[in-house]
Amino acid sequence: MAVKKRPDEFFDDMETMSPAAREKYQREKLSQAIDHAFRHAPAVKELFDRADVSPKDIRTVKDLQRLPITRKTDLIERQKAHPPYGGYSAIPLEDIDRVFISPGPVYEPIQHAGIKWFAKAFWAAGFRKGDVVVNTFTYHLSPAGILFQEAIRDCGATAVPTGTGNTDIQVQTIYHLKATGFVGTPSFLMTVLKRAAEMGFAVKKDLCLKRAWFTGEMLSPSLRQTFESNYKIDTYQAYAVTEPGGALAYECRQKLGMHFMDEYIIEIIDPETGRQLGPGEIGEVVVTPLHNRNWGLVRFGTGDLSSYISEPCPCGRTANRLTGILGRTGDAVKVRGMFVIARQAEQVCLSFEPVARFQIAVSRRGQCDEMNLKLELKHELVGEAKQKLSDELSQHFQNVCRIRPDSIDFVSAGTITEGQPKIVDQRTWE
Ligand SMILES: [Zn+2]
Repeated sequence: MAVKKRPDEFFDDMETMSPAAREKYQREKLSQAIDHAFRHAPAVKELFDRADVSPKDIRTVKDLQRLPITRKTDLIERQKAHPPYGGYSAIPLEDIDRVFISPGPVYEPIQHAGIKWFAKAFWAAGFRKGDVVVNTFTYHLSPAGILFQEAIRDCGATAVPTGTGNTDIQVQTIYHLKATGFVGTPSFLMTVLKRAAEMGFAVKKDLCLKRAWFTGEMLSPSLRQTFESNYKIDTYQAYAVTEPGGALAYECRQKLGMHFMDEYIIEIIDPETGRQLGPGEIGEVVVTPLHNRNWGLVRFGTGDLSSYISEPCPCGRTANRLTGILGRTGDAVKVRGMFVIARQAEQVCLSFEPVARFQIAVSRRGQCDEMNLKLELKHELVGEAKQKLSDELSQHFQNVCRIRPDSIDFVSAGTITEGQPKIVDQRTWE
């Protein structure tokens, strides 16, 4: 594949490592990270002892499968039992620079020296010296505000810590400082742009915004289109998770998936078995930081469902790419070996105009899973029109979710209520 690179395309050499170099790098760093966590974080030592595994046994990404997944609930429970850090802190307490607090609560000790790699995610989006960037993530409790602020600066750009909310002040600041960049969620950028129009600004003419970087929320293709075509704002997204330490994957100019950051081992696993899955298979994103010495997180289960692609990217970066977050492990049900995700099913069903609501019921017939789809319509359809909708929806469902409903039933208005779950698992296992 022809690689067209800009002279300043890459933030560092790691982004273009050969597969062999990446494997060597991961082996080396994984061993070091595991040894450090085992020696300094009592919770990690306990985890290894319970699994009857020694740090020497974990030398490759495949070896990680011998260890259980650590989840947010484990952090919460252990921190409650062994306050404040639950035995996960792997540095002397007096060396901690900052403590972040995420809902749970989970207290996260951070020592900042050397955390430069988030900048890659902003660099790939084109932030450079001379840019003025409003950072609209919160600066309270959670890490996003402060960490992204530093990353913006590490790209050479100037960061303005506007934080969340205060829409009028955001508009005013973007206008007065001639801000060129926005960092935040897609929905908040939309709020800001709409407010700017209400305040009498012609967004494209009066504001200098040309680039936006998003995380924390899905960027839908239609919203991306609106930003890029209507407002001429180039958009990029990244995948970030608080506990393992921030941005984990990021888009390049190709915008075809988010490149894995080499500072983490990212696995896609079957949440039921912990087994690693291959390219294209949907599973839970599991993260092991390689450079975060602050705390000993090994195989942290994010609860997010995604898949990855391993084909080379035209941008020249060689890391695998995450395809986007498809849902949460709790929103998904495995049917005939495939995850059906409530959000994906919703996208399919509601893309058909007559459909008002839907519900999926999964049951067992003999030794087989069966999936029934109930549809409630906005208005009555008869005969052929009903059959046509049923056929087309079934086909689209198969294309997107990779599994076809066994039956589609039309139910009368009011049968499916607002608060009902989108997927009901009626299977019993004897
Ligand atoms: Zn790329």
